[in-house]
Amino acid sequence: MLETVHHLILHVVFILFMVLLFQMFTNDSDNGSKGFTLKFLIMNLAVLVFTMMFPVVYSSGYVYDFKVIPMILAFIYGGKRVGFSTFLTMLVIGVFTSHVWIFLVVNYAIYSVLLVPISKWYKRGTWRYKIVLISVFYLFIPITRTCFLLQRNEIEQLLLMVSSTLIIWITLILTIYLIENRLEQLRVKKELMKAEKFNVVSQLAASVAHEIRNPMTTVRGFMQLLQRETLTEEQKSFINISIQELDHAQDVINQYLSLAKPQTEEYEVFSLTDTINESVDVMSTYAVMSSIQINSHIENDLMVQGIKIELKQVLLNLLKNAIEAIKENGEITVAAHVHKDGRIMVVIQDNGAGMPPDQLKVLGRPYYSTKEKGTGLGLTVCYQIIKRMKGEIQVESEQGVGTTFRIFL
Ligand code: ADP
Ligand code: MG
Repeated sequence: MLETVHHLILHVVFILFMVLLFQMFTNDSDNGSKGFTLKFLIMNLAVLVFTMMFPVVYSSGYVYDFKVIPMILAFIYGGKRVGFSTFLTMLVIGVFTSHVWIFLVVNYAIYSVLLVPISKWYKRGTWRYKIVLISVFYLFIPITRTCFLLQRNEIEQLLLMVSSTLIIWITLILTIYLIENRLEQLRVKKELMKAEKFNVVSQLAASVAHEIRNPMTTVRGFMQLLQRETLTEEQKSFINISIQELDHAQDVINQYLSLAKPQTEEYEVFSLTDTINESVDVMSTYAVMSSIQINSHIENDLMVQGIKIELKQVLLNLLKNAIEAIKENGEITVAAHVHKDGRIMVVIQDNGAGMPPDQLKVLGRPYYSTKEKGTGLGLTVCYQIIKRMKGEIQVESEQGVGTTFRIFL
């Protein structure tokens, strides 16, 4: 018994060592690529060959090994092709070793077929889900074995089987943990590189945007002068459209610039109550144009720390979005009060079009907009400003019912 356990532990060490090598040899360019699959295949086959060549043999002739681990890994990380090639390799090795071949074929053919849909579910799941899924699948094997042993009345084998099952199961979870960890590392590194690139580009673009703004103001001024000339109606409408388009471009640039603004401005304590009231006043004309009513319930003397203009920009953006979501005839509720947890909560609620869940997930991503003339930067700016103020934005939305934005400060 003790010897068998020693033997099992040797296998565990070998498998973990192979995973370690795999971790060492995968690099940044490998995430999801061919190189990754190849390295993974080599590691997996090495484990398979080792565990089948030197199986743990029970006193009464039962052969036990870890081949289920490379099989499961092959399917969940390599896909169907890697999975079935591992299966075939196993059959070939099975011919040359002391396995009961027909058992091997039948048992593992069933596992392979089951593993195809499982690997599909596996990819979608969270951490805990993955571990539970694989554990349930794995435990299916010892349970079939237990039935087999019980039927044959070999109770003393059971103890050995339970302990080996435990060891194999722990090894399996450990291997999965190590591989997932590595994949996560690769993913984060990739994201980081992307973010760095974005950072440089946005800094450059900010300076360009700044340079463009000045000539545009000049052009706009001269166009307004031109409008006063005696022109035909058609010509006037052309100039009108040009000015509108210029304004739109200006909007985009302004929002963009505030996105890339350095964070060195002074923080001050100011009245949130006043800021909200001012923002609502500014937007109310825009709202009246679409026959929208803005109701506000704002507690007196709310004070916050931050940059007043920035917070105003957040409120204006959110109000503008709410008005645009309603289009015509609706109601917007703006409320602000001290929340139960001590923070100040500002609520902006509309009964407009709302958003489906998958849209909620991508909210705040730069240039994401569903509007023809949208910039897709409004919410990006809002999220950034609130984050800088160490606050939080929560969104709740239902399609056809409306949207609620909550800001916690
Ligand atoms: P823009 O307003 O220029 O499109 P935003 O970043 O402000 O860019 O908003 C991004 C998108 O989020 C909008 O195009 C819209 O689809 C959605 N959205 C934002 N606020 C609301 C809201 N209150 N109701 C419904 N959809 C909204
Ligand atoms: Mg907007």
